[in-house]
Amino acid sequence: MTTVGIVGGGQLGRMLALAGVPLGVRCVCLEPGADPPAAAVADVVRGAYGDRTALGELARRCDVVTVELEHVDVDGLAWLAERVPVRPGPAAVALAQDRLLEKQALQDAGVATAAFATAGPSPRGFPGGTIVKRRTGGYDGRGQVRVDGPVDVGAVEAELGGPCIAEAVVAFSREVSVIAARGLDGAVACYPVVENHHVGGILRETVAPAAGADQVAAEQLVANLLEAWSYVGVLAVELFEVEGRLVANEVAPRVHNSGHWTIEGAVTSQFEQHLRAICGLPLGDPSPRGHSAMVNLIGVLPPVADLLAVPGAHVHLYGKAPRPARKIGHVTVHASGPAERDARLARVREIVG
Ligand code: AMP
Repeated sequence: MTTVGIVGGGQLGRMLALAGVPLGVRCVCLEPGADPPAAAVADVVRGAYGDRTALGELARRCDVVTVELEHVDVDGLAWLAERVPVRPGPAAVALAQDRLLEKQALQDAGVATAAFATAGPSPRGFPGGTIVKRRTGGYDGRGQVRVDGPVDVGAVEAELGGPCIAEAVVAFSREVSVIAARGLDGAVACYPVVENHHVGGILRETVAPAAGADQVAAEQLVANLLEAWSYVGVLAVELFEVEGRLVANEVAPRVHNSGHWTIEGAVTSQFEQHLRAICGLPLGDPSPRGHSAMVNLIGVLPPVADLLAVPGAHVHLYGKAPRPARKIGHVTVHASGPAERDARLARVREIVG
């Protein structure tokens, strides 16, 4: 029996631990809060993500450790990596924490990004508008502001509370993402590109596969990153599609919300795939089964029975109390063709509101 340590005990940890059950993989989460979502299916070590005593316990109890969020203490992760394999490694997690290091690492690997500047392009800003983002700590659209015209980066940094990066606004036609895994043996398996819809910076819906996406280019892009970073595990890349070209926005060194559809919609789910990769097992088939869409349940819980009455619908609740802007679950609809999938998605949308 393999024991996997997970830094973080949220819904991603919960779904990872759940995927481990049939594989004989037991998960232990490190989480400061009481009764986190993962506690339903995993043991919990209580402590801060950088707490050496708690990390030491994780190292003692686990064969390999992974993360379910990138906002963890990297020094703690590096300390852990001296005691137990950490996959993906602390370096990959570190660059996903800092938008500046991330953009530079993407460009170093030959991946296109939005034009950006550290000290800020002030006073003029980028011609099509500027998005100023906190270098660290921002997620789900938090910690960023859009400025049209002149930018006073210093003022924005004061407002957002830390060092920022200024990015050119990308005039994208849609947002997509690609998720792939690299095994311990270097094998790579890539899921189909999916289309994402955000509201207020928070992912609302994912449609899989994305019609008309450049799968070959996306696979090449993510494979380049996996190779360049000697990465082991699942990596997600959020992308803008600009006149058919792919421009990277950010990476997540973990399983990703835009891959939840794979639980029912792919031969191997992203959660099983991540466990396979980090445990040194052969990767599974990432092929889609039919057509899927995922709708996040954010802030309020709609009537679950109504959702379940939609043909091909599967409900996943995370055991979290509803709060505004909080992801408390998701619904996946599945169908054999896109038209049927879209009709089912429309019904789910009505119920979710
Ligand atoms: P992020 O926190 O970087 O994922 O940004 C959240 C959302 O803001 C993205 O999903 C986009 O919808 C939008 N966004 C972020 N950066 C840019 C950009 N450079 N150009 C246009 N839209 C952006």
